[in-house]
Amino acid sequence: KSGLTFEDTIVAISTPPGRGGIGIVRLSGPTARAIAEPLLKLRHPLAPAQARFAEILDSTGENPTQVLDEAVVTYYQSPHSYTSEDIVEIAAHGSPVLLDHLLRQCVANGARLAEPGEFTQRAFLSGRLDLTQAEAVRDLIESTTLHQARIAAQQLGGSLSRHIAPIKQQLITLIAALEAGIDFAEDDIDFLPNSQIGAQIEAIQAPLIALEKSFSYGHIVRDGFTMAIVGRPNVGKSSLFNRLIQRDRAIVTATPGTTRDLVTERLSLEGIPFELIDTAGLRQATDEAESIGITKSREVMSEADVVLLVLDATAPPHEDDRATVAALSGRPFVIVLNKQDLAHSAPGAWEQTVQTVETSALTGSGILELRRAILSLIAKKIPAIESAVLTNHRQQQSVSDATGALHRAHQAASANIPHEMILLDLYEGLRALDAFSGSTTSDDLLNLIFSKFCIGK
Ligand code: GDP
Ligand code: ZN
Repeated sequence: KSGLTFEDTIVAISTPPGRGGIGIVRLSGPTARAIAEPLLKLRHPLAPAQARFAEILDSTGENPTQVLDEAVVTYYQSPHSYTSEDIVEIAAHGSPVLLDHLLRQCVANGARLAEPGEFTQRAFLSGRLDLTQAEAVRDLIESTTLHQARIAAQQLGGSLSRHIAPIKQQLITLIAALEAGIDFAEDDIDFLPNSQIGAQIEAIQAPLIALEKSFSYGHIVRDGFTMAIVGRPNVGKSSLFNRLIQRDRAIVTATPGTTRDLVTERLSLEGIPFELIDTAGLRQATDEAESIGITKSREVMSEADVVLLVLDATAPPHEDDRATVAALSGRPFVIVLNKQDLAHSAPGAWEQTVQTVETSALTGSGILELRRAILSLIAKKIPAIESAVLTNHRQQQSVSDATGALHRAHQAASANIPHEMILLDLYEGLRALDAFSGSTTSDDLLNLIFSKFCIGK
């Protein structure tokens, strides 16, 4: 698909809807310049990758020389542009009325309104970005924490493609060797013994299996670590929840057993995303509704990536808490000794073995320490930014298709099945790797992927 060119020129407002200091209308396609130039009064002609001052003319009005706005216009000459086509970007003032007028003028001059993600789709179809990089553009725009943005930027820079390329090359080399063996099969020459084929398949599989596992982390990058706040009623869980998210969301009451439904909220600690969950108090239930809440709390606790067990520092250690500590053994959790502002006695005995932080949800003291403790708990789970991470189901599916096919090829080699049959599975693995980077992805699927982008990107 590389080198593909499109006949039409697309146009969109690339800045978000609404008023702003600047609004950008972007054109991409062979006639981008020809469409834009009649709308502009330029002091100096457009030149590749240079910004030019221009006046925007109201060519539809009674006086076509009437100036509507002042703008900075940048021209990118094919192939040195985002889409690798000619691009003209008109950065005017961010007035929706003006931008809409400009857009209509471009359409009147022959441009077509761009579909969502169409600029990026063109970048992909022209071979400038592969599919993982195109997806990274969307992830970057949609990222809600700095950490997500960092991972997306890494992927946009080609981290996944670079990771896959040598693996694919190894697979192609193996396929070529087997094909050569088959060509000479009449002379009874087997170039590769089956044991060696098996070893080569394993070498190709290993990094793919590691990559497949990275998806569970990619998932965390997108959705965040889940962090459950648990503890007996009235110890200050909801108050702590509100402290951590820095606003009042969970209901705080002096009546025990109030938080019966789960309250969740997104939270970012040093750019790392979390999904914080406030739970009902863990204790012997006094009625059915509370009992349902407690069951739900236990479920959430058992699935959370991190648990904050909140204790009331003014009360003596309770049997319920000992049971919870025992249930959490081996899991990442922090004991939060809350209500320090009221505490006079020394804390209980468990802080010897488990990380403990003293807080007051009321005054906010100790919250900084708590944030640090949480981050140090999950630090081990955060791989280095430079390592490749799968960030969506599509990518994960392609890699798992590839490892599945390689697994079958390996079994076939072990069973001394003819090379022709092993090759079928190896080719299937290769196709899966091609689909991963988008080189064999169907148009329908591509359209679906790009339709999730915003307009103007
Ligand atoms: P939950 O049932 O564990 O969610 O506890 P809440 O957050 O609803 O708090 C129960 C009561 O304890 C409320 O009256 C809070 O104002 C109070 N409380 C919570 N945290 C603190 C704290 O650190 N110090 C003091 N003095 N009171 C607190
Ligand atoms: Zn509560």
